[in-house]
Amino acid sequence: MTEKIINKNEISSFYKNLKDEFTVYGVKEKEESFYVFDETDEFTDPLDDYIPTILPPKKYLFPQQETLLRFDTQPHPDIRPVIESKKQVLFGVRPCDIHGINLLDRIFSSDYEDTNYTHKRAETVIIGIDCLKPCYEHALCASVGCLDVGEGYDILITDIGSSYYISINTPMGQEIIDRYANPIEVSNEDRDKFRKLIKERIAKFEMKFATDVSNLPLLFKNADNDPVWDELNDRCLGCGRCNIVCPTCYCFDVFDCMELNMTSGERCREWDACSLKDFAVVATGENFRSTRGQRQRHRFNRKFNYLMTKYNTSFCVGCGRCTRSCPVNIDIVETVNTVIENTKSNVK
Ligand code: SF4
Ligand code: SF4
Repeated sequence: MTEKIINKNEISSFYKNLKDEFTVYGVKEKEESFYVFDETDEFTDPLDDYIPTILPPKKYLFPQQETLLRFDTQPHPDIRPVIESKKQVLFGVRPCDIHGINLLDRIFSSDYEDTNYTHKRAETVIIGIDCLKPCYEHALCASVGCLDVGEGYDILITDIGSSYYISINTPMGQEIIDRYANPIEVSNEDRDKFRKLIKERIAKFEMKFATDVSNLPLLFKNADNDPVWDELNDRCLGCGRCNIVCPTCYCFDVFDCMELNMTSGERCREWDACSLKDFAVVATGENFRSTRGQRQRHRFNRKFNYLMTKYNTSFCVGCGRCTRSCPVNIDIVETVNTVIENTKSNVK
C-alpha cells in the first residue's frame, strides 16, 4: 500500500483524464437526496455527503438484465456465449459497497465460475471513498464489520480537509495514479491528520445490534418459529424492493426470448428476489415459501445464517438500503433485535 495526496482542485481533472481510457461511472444526485451511479461527463462533488445510491454499483458487474448466449436452431443448432465487458472505473464507491462487491467476487468465482461476472470484474477499477461519519440514519456498516475495508479496491480516497489522502492498494491503482493524477507526496502532517480522523470516526458509528454479529447464525438457526415472522407476514407487501436494492443479493432468473422466425433467440438472466411470491415455485406448481413471512425468514437467514455460515462473514454489509426502500418500514435492525429479544425471553 502506498499513499499520496491529491489537492481537491485536482480531483476533477483526475476524473476527466480517466475517461481517456475507461468508461467512468460516478455518483450524481438524480433527485433531491436520491443518488445514482451513472456515466457522468464531469466530476460532480457529492463525494463527502452522498448517501447510498438507489441501486448499488454491482449493476455494472451483474446487470439487472443480461444476455448469456445467442442460439440458432436452423440450419443446424448453434450456440454462442455472450460475455460482454469493457474497461470501466467505478468512482466513489463506499466501503459497504466495496464489501458487497467482495462478497459477489466470492459467490461468482467459488463453486462455479460465472464468466459473465468475472470478465466484467477483471476489467473494473474501483476507486473508493472512505466514510468518516455515518452517511445516514439507516447505516449499520459498523455493526456488521464493514466500516473498514482492506481489499477489493484499487484506490481509496479519504477526505482530510484541504486535500484527499489517497491509499493505493493495487498495481492497477498505482498505474492510474501515475498516468492520470497529479499527486504530491504525503507530509507527516497529512499522515497525522489521516490517522486522527480514522481513529476518531469509530466513536461516531453506533453498534446497532443487541449482540455481536458473529452470534447471529446460531440465533437465526434457532429462530424458525419466532413470532417476528408472523408479524412480518402481516406487514410485508412482498414487493421485492429489499432484495433488488441490496448489494449482496445475487439471485437471478433465466429465460429464453425467441425471435419471430422461431429459429433463433437469446438466453437472458435478470435479477430475481426471494421476497417475491413466485420465487420458490417449482415446475409442479408447489411453492416452498408461499407466505410473505416465510420469505422474509428466508431473506434474513440468507444474510445472517446460511451464507454467513458458509463464508464466515455477514452477508449484510450495512448499507441500510432495504430499510430505506421498504414501503412499510420493515427495518433490518429492528427485525434482528426482535429476534435477539425473543430468543432471550425464550431461554429465561
Ligand atoms: S440486507 Fe439491507 S442493509 Fe444489509 S446489505 Fe442488503 S440492503 Fe444493505
Ligand atoms: S421491501 Fe418491505 S414490503 Fe417489500 S418485500 Fe421487502 S420487506 Fe416486504
